Amino acid sequence: MKIVRSGEIAPDIVREPGAKNATVQRLIDTPDGADRFVMSLFELGRDGTSPPHYHDWEHEIYVVSGTLRLELPDRNEVVTLKQGDSVFIARGEQHAFSTAEDESALALTMAPAERPPIRSVFLSEKPYQYDQPAAERR
Ligand code: ZN
Repeated sequence: MKIVRSGEIAPDIVREPGAKNATVQRLIDTPDGADRFVMSLFELGRDGTSPPHYHDWEHEIYVVSGTLRLELPDRNEVVTLKQGDSVFIARGEQHAFSTAEDESALALTMAPAERPPIRSVFLSEKPYQYDQPAAERR
């Protein structure tokens, strides 16, 4: 068993192509012995982006706080998610998340620990951008 206390896991800056003002805390991960599911807490700061991508595994997302826009590029659709909303993203579904200039959001994300070697296909060629220290965003 492992108990992770609030604030114990330092956030990592998300450095994937097109990511902006995004961090992730890997709360429960494979080095902890999780061999089926991992759990991560994503934070998008103001004007943040988790870039469009897809992968051959599903994940489940719960909006802990804030307002999050779920973008579905291949459906040309944007859905607004609020605190307490949940989303199931099936394998192969294109998805991205973003926040507006005056929004930020925390989203708990579950994903399988056993993944194919190529984890995600990113649909953005922009470099990642991070310009908001976590302390200033809260
Ligand atoms: Zn994803």
